[in-house]
Amino acid sequence: MNPRQDIYAELGARSIINAKGTATRLGGIPLRPEVREAMARAAEASIDMVQLQARASAIIAEATGAESGLVTSGAAAGLLLAAAACMAGLDPAAMNRLPDTCGLKNRVIMIKSQRNGYDHAIRTAGARIIEIGLADHIAGAGIRSADPWEIEAAIDERTAAFLWVAKSAPELELETVTAIAKPWGLPVIVDAAAQLPPAANLRRFIEAGADLVAFSGGKALGGPQASGILCGRRDLIMSAALQMLDQDIAFDEYEPPTQFIDKTLLKGLPSHGIGRPCKAGKEEIVGLLTALRLFTGESDAIRHGRWRSRLEPLAEAIAGAELIERGPVPGVVVTIGPAAPEMAARLRRHRPPIHVDTSEARHGRLFLSPLGLREEDLPLIIDAFATLEC
Ligand SMILES: *Cc1c(COP(=O)(O)O)cnc(C)c1O
Repeated sequence: MNPRQDIYAELGARSIINAKGTATRLGGIPLRPEVREAMARAAEASIDMVQLQARASAIIAEATGAESGLVTSGAAAGLLLAAAACMAGLDPAAMNRLPDTCGLKNRVIMIKSQRNGYDHAIRTAGARIIEIGLADHIAGAGIRSADPWEIEAAIDERTAAFLWVAKSAPELELETVTAIAKPWGLPVIVDAAAQLPPAANLRRFIEAGADLVAFSGGKALGGPQASGILCGRRDLIMSAALQMLDQDIAFDEYEPPTQFIDKTLLKGLPSHGIGRPCKAGKEEIVGLLTALRLFTGESDAIRHGRWRSRLEPLAEAIAGAELIERGPVPGVVVTIGPAAPEMAARLRRHRPPIHVDTSEARHGRLFLSPLGLREEDLPLIIDAFATLEC
């Protein structure tokens, strides 16, 4: 057990050793001391949230090259707000109507093989997803995913946006999608939740013509678990902000910074919007901005080196372990054989429980991620692998 009794134990709950990585179901990763301290300081005073979000917007704009930005409660919240912004625009009556999209553009085009559990957030706003392409390369029964011509063929007067999910080998390049969407005035939303690092990705999707980009704050960016970034076009971020921020204020008392929310473009204020249940607190906003500053202040190489050195003791001490590069975050693979799923189960039943990445357990391998590991976890993990060997 950790030398210090943790707060979860005080509540009668049990914390875990997180060798799995940024998984939300495990509460994400422990935060760096600077982020924790910033959040505690944010809790010391109240602040007008539209003023705070306007400052966040300027900081996010600088880091991403986007016109504007918003701190959300996560990338999924960012997707919901993005869809809401593309459907309602700056019309407060339309904002009030969501998720009822009667009379609004409400279709969001996606490549069929990019469909995933998080696109539920798009549908939560009231949008309907229109799939293009055929995922027969996934079935192993063909070569197709989606072709560029299919995007244009799917666009009609009801189309509100195109959602593109960022990954290392995409079905269609973002530049191809934005080039087709632009002449139609069709906004392109990018789900870039897990695309940091590399830090260059903060700017890459905006540079490729995306209108809105959603990042997770609680993944490798190192921010609070319930935080994220939505950045992009000023008018769309303004719409997203209006649909998330609390609106219990009379229009004539409302004085948002013009750069962030230009009041002269509004005929009135909407009431609490579709995004109100995904509010970001002042502590999360300050924590996220602190994590963003730390992230952009460190090179990818130095960050990578820090993660590798966290893993080295594990790779040396655990039987069958090897330090590997897979994607931007290094890992340790432990080759166990057919008993790998059973070993993972024993690690979870260990005291304290140890959670590892079991995505390839069926193939005899367990992965350890450095993202959630603390120095004091290492000897406990090494000891557990030695004693639980099966
Ligand atoms: C993690 C993830 C999300 C959700 O991010 P949150 O910040 O937890 O809301 C959305 N899309 C993709 C592709 C993800 O990997």
